[in-house]
Amino acid sequence: MRIDVLGVGFDNLTMAEAVEQGMKLIAEGGCHYVVTPNPEIVEVCRENPAANEAVNGADLVLPDGVGVVKGARILGTPLKEKTPGVEFAAHLMERLAAEGKSLFLLGAKPGIAEQAAEKLKETYPDLVIAGTHDGYFKEDEPVVAEIAGSGADVVFVCLGAPKQELWMKRYGPATGARLLCGLGGSLDVFAG
Ligand code: UDP
Repeated sequence: MRIDVLGVGFDNLTMAEAVEQGMKLIAEGGCHYVVTPNPEIVEVCRENPAANEAVNGADLVLPDGVGVVKGARILGTPLKEKTPGVEFAAHLMERLAAEGKSLFLLGAKPGIAEQAAEKLKETYPDLVIAGTHDGYFKEDEPVVAEIAGSGADVVFVCLGAPKQELWMKRYGPATGARLLCGLGGSLDVFAG
């Protein structure tokens, strides 16, 4: 059961449990997606029905920061802990590298995803990067086709919120990936 914080239902998981659940979704058939809303996104969801549907429709809804965790505590339904997207991504990549699953990096300004890929290969030498693409494309279909052609198991979608959530919901299945993760500015972080 999810914990409601002002209209967004959050999964009540520790980081370890969240990563385990992510790996389980990858192992399952079909396409799944993860969102990591912060209070600003919760606010957006109150005003934007499409964003609300995309966020609450995710297979994993993780509290990105202390703001959501505090909100849940004040509402009398505490969450176990914060599970920030960038940390979730780091733990997940460890597992992807160990299990030979491939990752596509989508988003951020031109050159950033490639730079992030290089840095990530240093941190996780066994990580298979299936491809990269910047987040400032005009047409969606060629990008979807590129991801599908790469055969990636997982896609990090870093287009900012709520764009990335809407994108994952609409195009996720056509990418052929098992799991898409909406991770905001994470590629900028990984690029260093
Ligand atoms: N971004 C993108 N395409 C866009 C808009 C934003 O790739 O059309 C990228 C931006 O370069 C940044 C990331 O999305 O790397 C997240 O941006 P921001 O920090 O504003 O979002 P948040 O992390 O707060 O969701």
